[in-house]
Amino acid sequence: MGTPLESRETQAETVIERLEEAYPDSTISLRYSNRLELLIAVILSAQCTDERVNTETEHLFEKYGGAEDYANAPEEELAEDLNSITYYNSKAGYIKSSCETILEEHDGEVPDTMDELTELSGVGRKTANVVLQHGHDVVEGIVVDTHVQRLTRRLGLTEEQRPEAIEQELMEIVPEGYWQQFTHLCIDHGRATCTARNPDCSDCVLADICPSAKGDSEVDLASGEPW
Ligand code: SF4
Repeated sequence: MGTPLESRETQAETVIERLEEAYPDSTISLRYSNRLELLIAVILSAQCTDERVNTETEHLFEKYGGAEDYANAPEEELAEDLNSITYYNSKAGYIKSSCETILEEHDGEVPDTMDELTELSGVGRKTANVVLQHGHDVVEGIVVDTHVQRLTRRLGLTEEQRPEAIEQELMEIVPEGYWQQFTHLCIDHGRATCTARNPDCSDCVLADICPSAKGDSEVDLASGEPW
């Protein structure tokens, strides 16, 4: 077990500093070439790997050019085109409905405010934050996905459970200039080292400041998750 630094702010800053050094090229891994493609890729990425989404969207984005193509497509056909993605039936419905709203209420453009984005079908605060940050260069919050959720709890940056509550806490301790990059760093470290079931604490750059760092026989008391 490591010893966390004296305040959560210092802990967060040190985490960022070390992860930036470990992952200097950390960035979004979804592939897209415009805001609509970004929105669709993020909707598809819920409970699904970015790798799988990128494979699927390669042909999806060739077949469906703009919002009208998705809005006019029969939902069953769109679902069929997404059938290697988790929850593809629901996601096809979200995409079709979101594109209808984009056409009817936003002149065919992906909206650029949190309120308008979260009114789209299947779009919560996490998805909206990604679209704002990477589609519109607007940083209003911190994207809290499963990796950010797991790492920040293990590192003692929050004790909250719900992503929205975690985001609020993180916004108080992560310097605003790092709100976007913080997510990518956590995702990279969560994939490479601090995995859900088998974190490699012995090879972790954060082990000395991590209250959840484990020896070979320890269990994860901080998150309650099985190693
Ligand atoms: S890999 Fe271990 S030491 Fe590193 S952040 Fe995760 S739980 Fe902490």
